[in-house]
Amino acid sequence: MPDDLLEFRSHAPGYWPDSAMDHWHDPKWQLKNRINSLADLEQHLDLTDEERAGVLLAGRKLAMSITPHFFSLIDRDDPDCPIRRQVIPRLEEGWTAPEEMADPCGEDSHMPVPGLVHRYPDRVLFLVTDRCASYCRYCTRSRVVSGVGEQQLEIQWEAAFQYLEKTPQVRDVLLSGGDPLLLSDGKLEKILSRLRSIPHIQFVRIGSRIPIFLPQRITPALCDMLRKYHPLFISIHSNHPKELTTEVRDALGRLADAGVPMGNQSVLLRGVNDSPAVQQALVHKLLMCRVRPYYLYQCDLISGSSHLRTSVAEGLEIIENLRGHTTGYAIPQFVIDGPGGGGKIPLNPDYVLTRDDDKTVLRNYEGETFEYPEPTSAPAEALAELKDRSACCS
Ligand SMILES: *Cc1c(COP(=O)(O)O)cnc(C)c1O
Ligand code: SF4
Repeated sequence: MPDDLLEFRSHAPGYWPDSAMDHWHDPKWQLKNRINSLADLEQHLDLTDEERAGVLLAGRKLAMSITPHFFSLIDRDDPDCPIRRQVIPRLEEGWTAPEEMADPCGEDSHMPVPGLVHRYPDRVLFLVTDRCASYCRYCTRSRVVSGVGEQQLEIQWEAAFQYLEKTPQVRDVLLSGGDPLLLSDGKLEKILSRLRSIPHIQFVRIGSRIPIFLPQRITPALCDMLRKYHPLFISIHSNHPKELTTEVRDALGRLADAGVPMGNQSVLLRGVNDSPAVQQALVHKLLMCRVRPYYLYQCDLISGSSHLRTSVAEGLEIIENLRGHTTGYAIPQFVIDGPGGGGKIPLNPDYVLTRDDDKTVLRNYEGETFEYPEPTSAPAEALAELKDRSACCS
């Protein structure tokens, strides 16, 4: 494995003038100075024709926006830079493959109240904003995210809270969007305290890519507010080891110190992280940041994603290369969100060669075969004899 993938680096300076460094750690400056237009982009990077066309088309689909922090991780000399492919639109995005959809996870058909997706019996997904710090070109919710797509995210706050209050089977609420950590501390606290006032809600989590896109937003004040609402988990979203910089590690450390358990959700993306070596570096760095890899998603069939999707076999191969070879905590569950609304379906390499009433024949990570027999019941005679023997022990 190339060692440099494992290194924690700071953001690469050089794109912005030195004067910008005075404001670099201010999240408001980062948001205000996002790269939003072709002109912004061309000030910093030589674009390919495919990218230029992609940027022009993006305005009608999913906006382009990239924080200076994330942008500074782009290697300008590498047109195939894995950071670049995630956030700079390309021409191929404009083409919808026949298998692709606007709402690949069938969320809109599982909303009892706008903004609230209730697909599993005991937990809901609560979409609390349509904005993110930067936009991922493969976003599964691009139909509503960023405000330029075909739909608007409608949130009916009071109706959503009332649904949760009168639905006792919901014990787990997952805040998502968009990115909930883009909301102000005050707004977020209002949501969390209302959820915490509902006795049957045991568990709250936030899905956020802010620690990666805008680590400056993870302020001590935010952490102090979040820690009042435990048990609170955060699922971050990191796809490539280069994203785990020293600033990101510090931000994740502040959350961990506030007692927030963290998992990572990554999306398997062609030309970004579709290799066992990159995935191994990613999961090892995540553990060093006190984040447990949670899910590795096969890329959803979102329209305009065919250039970013891989075969399913590649995901299985990645898991095969992790299991047994490294720390169990480092291994995410590979899943496909069943197209059209099936929910997350786990996929695993086949370790079971055969299984019948007598035994299971398995292979281990090194390809060796092992047999695990089913339990044998003790014969009545053997038990009777033991009983007799125990009688003379008294
Ligand atoms: C992913 C998801 C959840 C949470 O699933 P977990 O496996 O518990 O992490 C809940 N609701 C919806 C609609 C989801 O897509
Ligand atoms: S951060 Fe999440 S919601 Fe926002 S664009 Fe990326 S994938 Fe979509």
